[in-house]
Amino acid sequence: MERSEISKLGEFGLIDRISKRFENNLPSTILGIGDDAAVIDIGNEYLLMSTDMLIEGPHFNLSYVPLKHLGYKAVAVNVSDIAAMNGRPEQITIALGLSNRFSVEAVDELYEGIKAACKNFNVDLVGGDTTSSPAGLTIAINIIGRVAKDRIAYRKGAKPNDIICVTGDLGAAYMGLQVLEREKEVFLTNPEMQPDLEKYEYLVGRQLKPEARMDVVFDLEENKVIPTSMIDVSDGIASELLHISVNSGVGVKVFEDKLPIDSQAYETAVEMNLDPVTCALNGGEDYELLFTINPSDFEKLKNHPDIHFIGHVHNDPSQNQLITKHGNVVGLKAQGWTHF
Ligand code: ADP
Ligand code: MG
Repeated sequence: MERSEISKLGEFGLIDRISKRFENNLPSTILGIGDDAAVIDIGNEYLLMSTDMLIEGPHFNLSYVPLKHLGYKAVAVNVSDIAAMNGRPEQITIALGLSNRFSVEAVDELYEGIKAACKNFNVDLVGGDTTSSPAGLTIAINIIGRVAKDRIAYRKGAKPNDIICVTGDLGAAYMGLQVLEREKEVFLTNPEMQPDLEKYEYLVGRQLKPEARMDVVFDLEENKVIPTSMIDVSDGIASELLHISVNSGVGVKVFEDKLPIDSQAYETAVEMNLDPVTCALNGGEDYELLFTINPSDFEKLKNHPDIHFIGHVHNDPSQNQLITKHGNVVGLKAQGWTHF
């Protein structure tokens, strides 16, 4: 039989191929593969369910990631997928693969971070699985949450004229990773050199200790706004905007000068000869929320200190555009994080 490389399909191509082989047969399965979480009818509310896995190597490097931070991040990225459905997280289970490089104390440290995240996001750890692994550390977390049926936000649902919103700032986690990688190189060539991270504290924090934006989910509820569509920014906002476009059957137009970029991220990108806007669009791991709202809801959110209005939705799904500072129109491309 012919052998095909996964890299030819890519992550999304592979997920598409898997999903085509399955259909949902249960009436309780409201939505299966294809959004930030699966949606299950449990009576008067929807149950949300999602899995995210972190693997040593592609996702983290323990030479500069403290285990405590890693535990926190592993939970936060899962909570982020529940937030992206406009839901509240409730329980997690954790599957751990551990090589003999890890001591009991190391596992304690990992769980200290997990515990801090459980406390912060009000989540209970209710089970999991533990196994030895031939190499490295793997953390797979399954999370469930809930959302009122009339408050759920899917990737589909954006309508022409909707306003595109994003929380927080973009590209800082990516710049944090660049800083850590650079310091690692310096350290490897000269172990006497202590890393100089103070100047980059915000960026490094964004990379090592991301927060799921549950605060925004609560603010939306308080302000009586239901996003018409929503996704969390894990792979870079360009890629997530295209997910909204495909799933909603609409086009998006965003303005370069509206993209929220932290000054430290901007300056560090310039210092490293990177384009700050490209980093903001494609950096990834921001774990902010990207959503669309009906223009009639703008008044309710316009004074929110951490929600930015970056563009609008139109009806042509083939035209996904970035308008530059000089008014040039550039096609949006997903150049974000790829696994294969
Ligand atoms: P996110 O970045 O929000 O975690 P992903 O891009 O990882 O989402 O996944 C997109 C969709 O594909 C989700 O619905 C997820 O549950 C599903 N998915 C990912 N990997 C698999 C797999 N191996 N088998 C079945 N479904 C998968
Ligand atoms: Mg997601």
